[in-house]
Amino acid sequence: MATSTVSPIIMRIMAASIKTSVKAASIIRDVLKTGDLGIVDKSNKNDTQIDPQTLADRSAQRCIIASLTKKFPSVKIIGEEGDSDLNVPADWLVEDLDEAFLQQSCPTEWKDAKPEDFVIWVDPLDGTAEYTQGFVEHVTVLIGIAVKNAAVGGVIHQPFYKHPSGELGRTIWGLKGLGTGGFTQILPPTGQFIITTTRSHSNALHQQALNSFNATQTIKVGGAGFKVLQLLEGKAHAYVFATPGCKKWDTCAPEAVLEAQGGTLTDIDGHHYAYNASVEHINRKGVLATVCQDHAELVAKIPFEVRQAVGNK
Ligand code: AMP
Ligand code: MG
Ligand code: MG
Repeated sequence: MATSTVSPIIMRIMAASIKTSVKAASIIRDVLKTGDLGIVDKSNKNDTQIDPQTLADRSAQRCIIASLTKKFPSVKIIGEEGDSDLNVPADWLVEDLDEAFLQQSCPTEWKDAKPEDFVIWVDPLDGTAEYTQGFVEHVTVLIGIAVKNAAVGGVIHQPFYKHPSGELGRTIWGLKGLGTGGFTQILPPTGQFIITTTRSHSNALHQQALNSFNATQTIKVGGAGFKVLQLLEGKAHAYVFATPGCKKWDTCAPEAVLEAQGGTLTDIDGHHYAYNASVEHINRKGVLATVCQDHAELVAKIPFEVRQAVGNK
């Protein structure tokens, strides 16, 4: 279609990522249906708990990276599951672009971005622990698009989101300067302060940071993608993760979507992470994400000595 050939590359990457996330989600559902998750442990000897990877993580990553590499051969793509075999079944290669997305006009600031300016950060299945434990509604597919250092665009797909019709799967996107799609924002309740946080990677320092907010409620769910969706849909005011552990592929897409909707995602000192191809993958200083809050005021609530200790131990 004519629009596909003339749209700036950022619009085509977004449109391809939207379509590809849908296919990755169907692969994730299919693996679950077989009942054989093919779990391996990715943790290293310093880790205190297992870091599972399943056949669904591996297959969804192969689908996403093979599809995006074929369309954008000179764009750098970094996936959570490392080097993938890109020789995939033909029906895993997604060729289409989301035409409705392409109908929109490209924000001026990204119009001239060149292939070498991009890094695509792929978390093919965010919330693997929850996927293996049956909390499938926490699972998301994350495709984050960075231009130079900044998280600019993102796709968050929920493979197990159930529509009233019974149909499964929902795609949410955000592009800074353009906006978001796929959901309707709901503001969190006034007169309360609700935190969403990890259910499986807590420790003493993290707990100390949580305590400093005096939250009226703390919700523990899996995945960075799902927690940011809770902010966007009014379930929580802040996402707090005061420990290292999550990686650039966990935060790139959520940061872009949240910020395209007016929220903020930074480390716990209030600084944005950089997303160029040479950054270290781990987010050493945790995550603080807010919607409709004074972000700096929340940073200041975490005791300085806690902030200093996170990532230094
Ligand atoms: P959580 O909030 O615990 O669900 O973590 C969000 C994302 O970061 C998930 O993809 C986790 O796998 C990842 N993550 C967080 N902490 C760790 C850790 N200590 N080791 C490995 N992955 C982690
Ligand atoms: Mg993840
Ligand atoms: Mg993952």
